[in-house]
Amino acid sequence: MSTNEHPRGSAIYEHWISGAPFTSDSDRTQDVFDPATGASAKRVRLACAADVDAAVESARQAAVTWAETSVTARSRIMFAFRQLLVDHEDELAAVISAEHGKTIDDAKGEVVRGREVVEFACGVPQLLKGEYNDQVSGGIDSHSFRQPLGVVAGITPFNFPIMVPLWMHPIAIATGNTFVLKPSERVPGASDLVARLYQEAGLPDGVFNVVHGDKVAVDRLLEHPDVDAVSFVGSTPIAKYVHEGASRTGKRVQALGGAKNHAVVMPDADLDFAADHIVAAGYGSAGQRCMAISAVVAVGPVADTLVDKIRERTIDLKVGPGTGDGVEMGPVVTAASRDRIVDYVGQGELAGAKVVVDGRDLVVEGHEGGFFVGPTLIDHASTDMSVYTDEIFGPVLTVLRVPTLDAALELINSNPYGNGTAVFTSSGEVARTFQRKVHVGMIGINVPVPVPMAFHSFGGWKDSLFGDHHIHGPEGVRFYTQQKVVTTRWPHVSEDSLAALNFPTAQ
Ligand code: NAD
Repeated sequence: MSTNEHPRGSAIYEHWISGAPFTSDSDRTQDVFDPATGASAKRVRLACAADVDAAVESARQAAVTWAETSVTARSRIMFAFRQLLVDHEDELAAVISAEHGKTIDDAKGEVVRGREVVEFACGVPQLLKGEYNDQVSGGIDSHSFRQPLGVVAGITPFNFPIMVPLWMHPIAIATGNTFVLKPSERVPGASDLVARLYQEAGLPDGVFNVVHGDKVAVDRLLEHPDVDAVSFVGSTPIAKYVHEGASRTGKRVQALGGAKNHAVVMPDADLDFAADHIVAAGYGSAGQRCMAISAVVAVGPVADTLVDKIRERTIDLKVGPGTGDGVEMGPVVTAASRDRIVDYVGQGELAGAKVVVDGRDLVVEGHEGGFFVGPTLIDHASTDMSVYTDEIFGPVLTVLRVPTLDAALELINSNPYGNGTAVFTSSGEVARTFQRKVHVGMIGINVPVPVPMAFHSFGGWKDSLFGDHHIHGPEGVRFYTQQKVVTTRWPHVSEDSLAALNFPTAQ
């Protein structure tokens, strides 16, 4: 293909470097599937180390002038980019749905939540305001301000093809860094479009680059001496790997990992409300959200009634292609994901759990080749079963029964993950105890998917995050910048210098 051809109109997604499709040295490519049909309509280039070097070099060169560009000009480009995300919402949602499988409405939801980070980044002049102290000592003032790090790499997962990268690059770029994105090779299309929208918004070439690829690309980014910081979102084993690799080469790194999110249902909860929201949070996006509810913790006597209510709602869900009329849940991302999920349900059954709703054999008429698993409900699970211990990342809700709130808290706090959790209750006292005692980063009180808004920061505890900073919001600004503190004196020519060899103290 011609490298100047628009990759969306061609059969292969190429990298985007220095404001144009890039002619790669790599002959490795991979299929990009439509999960609803199981067919592959496109391929994606998988970078070699030289491709990554070219992207980092482009970003390094662009960083010099971009960091000198006024904060007002940077903010204006973010405003223009934000408008283009609005104008292209349908196109973005279509690409996401075609490669990920989620419904169009769900895809639009992620475009909106990602766009909100751009809206936050539009306020970068305010976000970068420093602090000033007059007269910290006789004739001396002190102020602090923040500067960009340089070149930032973002490595992202398949499950939010646009929103998770948008957690990173608008803030990194608005604060004066340049960016190399390595999106998931399973869903490359949205990043390709985003690169073009940035260019249309007036972002100088080289400030935002996309390198498609796999472990080869990630490894080169981790070791590259000109990459100053790495933001990673993905599974826990790779998050650990990225955190260790980037730390070894002295980079600033935040690595967000996997999850096992519990919804606790108390005896005083409105059970219809809880069941509605647990079904939405467990099966939305076919359970492929890092904030999906996967474990339901039924406290005291509620379990039988709650399981009945969840079952009634689950069997009515309409599963089909993400573009289908009235479809509530699409396929999972790959055949391998489907097989893994089906296998976990079998393991749970063998271990003695009860499969109340079984989605293993679902076939969607007209889409027999699609990667579908029906919503599945498992009851009477215990904490040693793989269906509970492992992140299944599919449409499987597993119910565990405990006698008290304390037992529920102990169960959650013993789990290695700590991304999100929710409690359904009508008691303020329960809610307050829960939010104070639970070892989890993001908590919902009668809110099952408590993803913080863009002006807060997102991040889990324990094996759900490696590094010191949560992502986007105020923590994002801090992560992508470093602080300077300046101490200033303008002495009169005639003034006594007061210089002494002692450590200086305020006068
Ligand atoms: P993944 O870890 O397989 O892939 C994430 C990124 O790492 C991709 O860009 C991929 O190319 C790269 N990668 C994969 N294997 C690698 C290897 N061996 N060496 C180097 N790089 C490698 O994750 P995924 O399957 O794309 O996404 C799902 C996972 O992401 C789930 O575990 C989910 O919980 C997690 N996730 C977490 C959050 C969060 O905010 N904590 C958000 C979204 C997704």
